[in-house]
Amino acid sequence: MTVLFDRIALIGIGLIGSSIARDIRESGLAKEVVISTRSEATLKRAEELKLGDRYTVSAAEAVKDADLVIVSVPVGSSGLVAEQIAPHLKPGAILTDVGSTKASVIAQMAPHVPEGVHFIPGHPLAGTEKSGPDAGFAGLFKGRWCIFTPLPDTDPDALAKLRDFWSALGSRIDEMDPLHHDKVLAIVSHLPHIIAYNIVGTADDLEAVTESEVIKYSASGFRDFTRLAASDPTMWRDVCLHNKDAILEMLARFSEDLASLQRSIRWGEGDKLFELFSRTRTIRRSIVEAGQDVDAPDFGRHALDPKA
Ligand code: NAP
Repeated sequence: MTVLFDRIALIGIGLIGSSIARDIRESGLAKEVVISTRSEATLKRAEELKLGDRYTVSAAEAVKDADLVIVSVPVGSSGLVAEQIAPHLKPGAILTDVGSTKASVIAQMAPHVPEGVHFIPGHPLAGTEKSGPDAGFAGLFKGRWCIFTPLPDTDPDALAKLRDFWSALGSRIDEMDPLHHDKVLAIVSHLPHIIAYNIVGTADDLEAVTESEVIKYSASGFRDFTRLAASDPTMWRDVCLHNKDAILEMLARFSEDLASLQRSIRWGEGDKLFELFSRTRTIRRSIVEAGQDVDAPDFGRHALDPKA
């Protein structure tokens, strides 16, 4: 066990914040963990789960004398949180976040960050469709990527320390330009969720097929979309609103390709369909080979999330 920070403040203690808290506790990465969340109810639950050493609804109070501050709130709230904590951050502290969009979070938070505080935006590519402090678990980040989008003047020592922290949580680390991050995530994460929300919404609106039939026969494919479509509505509303340009660009590409697929089906172009379906199959194989999933028919979810 190596203590990396004397005091860590966690602002937001949902799925991501509470998973980080559990990992810090298990690995002894900090001497003290201070937890803050906006509601008394969530704070009480965090305390019952013994996720930290001190608890407060005041984010400003929580960050006092903290060496590392991790903001894990919906991306649309990051500006407000930054404004609240900025005057209370300790000089030399590292401030980071876990938000799913990066350019917008930087635009919201960076203007508030005082001189001498190292702001290093981050995004762990790990999660589930659950939310709240009960949903988190130790080991969520193991083997998953954590992407940093450092600002041009980022202090190399602070960056190295944050890399050490996420490495201790088992993450693999990459660095990217924020706009590039937002484009990559638009296709690998945001579009799949939007497609899932849409298909489940379409099924729900169908009149010719009854709801009980949709549920009863869901194992034939629909079920896999419902997991993504059960993701937190606040989080995903914010992701859509805060990565608008990249998402709209990817949606335009997707719509064109869907129209082409539609044409192939209409005109009976079996060879084209077969070629596409074979190409996509190899992508699945590459993901399994890269260790980002296991080749189990339940998409390996039991192996990844002990609570699934
Ligand atoms: P979550 O489980 O819903 O938890 C959200 C936390 O943020 C709660 O502590 C909540 O407090 C607090 N919060 C909500 N609205 C707030 C506001 N307006 N001001 C201050 N605090 C607020 O969410 P999560 O899944 O941990 O996601 C947190 C962040 O991680 C998001 O930015 C998300 O984009 C990112 N992320 C999520 C995933 C994923 O799969 N879920 C993966 C990677 C990154 P109360 O409960 O007290 O209201």
